[in-house]
Amino acid sequence: MSRTGSELTDVRPVQGPPFWLLAELTYKCPLQCPYCSNPLDFAGHGEELTTEQWVEVFRQARKMGAAQLGFSGGEPLVRRDLEQLIAEGRKLGYYTNLITSGIGLNADRIAAFREAGLDHIQISFQASDETVNNMLAGSDKAFRQKLKMAREVKAQGYPMVLNFVTHKHNIDHIDRIIELCVELEADFVELATCQYYGWAHENRDSLLPTRAQLERAERVTNEYREKLAAEGNPIKLIFVTPDYYEERPKKCMNGWGEIFLTITPDGTALPCHSARMLPIDFPNVKDSNLTHIWHDSFGFNHFRGDDWMQEPCRSCDERENDLGGCRCQAYLLAGDMNAADPVCSKSPHHHKILAAREAAEKAGSDPSITYRNERNSRIFARG
Ligand code: SF4
Ligand code: SF4
Repeated sequence: MSRTGSELTDVRPVQGPPFWLLAELTYKCPLQCPYCSNPLDFAGHGEELTTEQWVEVFRQARKMGAAQLGFSGGEPLVRRDLEQLIAEGRKLGYYTNLITSGIGLNADRIAAFREAGLDHIQISFQASDETVNNMLAGSDKAFRQKLKMAREVKAQGYPMVLNFVTHKHNIDHIDRIIELCVELEADFVELATCQYYGWAHENRDSLLPTRAQLERAERVTNEYREKLAAEGNPIKLIFVTPDYYEERPKKCMNGWGEIFLTITPDGTALPCHSARMLPIDFPNVKDSNLTHIWHDSFGFNHFRGDDWMQEPCRSCDERENDLGGCRCQAYLLAGDMNAADPVCSKSPHHHKILAAREAAEKAGSDPSITYRNERNSRIFARG
């Protein structure tokens, strides 16, 4: 059941402004990554915001104090007004980031982004190997285009920032992934193990690596870090572990409604890009201004602080560390968005995490992949 802002009665400490505004410009994307964080039913969502509506969102958030503006999707390059949106964001004084698959990018467009004032471009890869990359992306041209664009981004004076989502299909190639990044002269590389929401949760049995795979990947990354630093290579390797092999969860978005504000293509405002799956009527920028949304809406206030907690979190002496963990993970695995994140070994639902780890150990059981595409999404949207 959904709840609304009118149910708010408690008095809360004054909340600071959002710092990060993530503009998910579109759910359209030429690729089909089976771990995409977009909602399963994205094809059933409403019309995308217009250029003017986006600029108004940027203006309101900047006025509140937001300083970082990320353009993502879907594939933000699909939006023909991207150059204009970047220019408007820059004019307002944001530090601007483009998060892209690189598909649809070319040298002229990078130059146009530079002209518009774009500060930073991040290109995502699926794997270090053309066959695996293209199998995961669902496109036989993706890998070559990504390589070309990564080089072009660097040639046009941007730092090269690469992102690899790692999982069962590519994690054993972590050394080759790092070698590729070195060869491309990358500056920052995020080796982010898949987090299991949205499409990744749907495909979890096919994607979750074993503990041994994960530990090896972390060890190899640490060895490369040392070796590259000794060689004077300035590349930064960031390794992100999946919650599923932790005993304590991470703090949800570093504090729900504390720093991050996501606006989806149809204008829905979220404290976290995955939160739309929760049984909450999140507000929309077409109906309310951002100050009201951020400070007064139920969606943004409900999980601030720890008043909402139930046991075991309520009386837990570690609750300040993680604030009960991820609300989407609690909802997905425990069926209750107010429950402790099942990643926590104190959660009564922790056995679900243990069962997923066990399933990952079973060799040979490689279930088929549900690709993230319009057709599959329409099936989810129909229910
Ligand atoms: S994760 Fe893959 S499918 Fe999803 S938006 Fe990014 S490139 Fe497209
Ligand atoms: S019981 Fe709740 S608050 Fe305590 S460590 Fe686990 S998730 Fe965090």
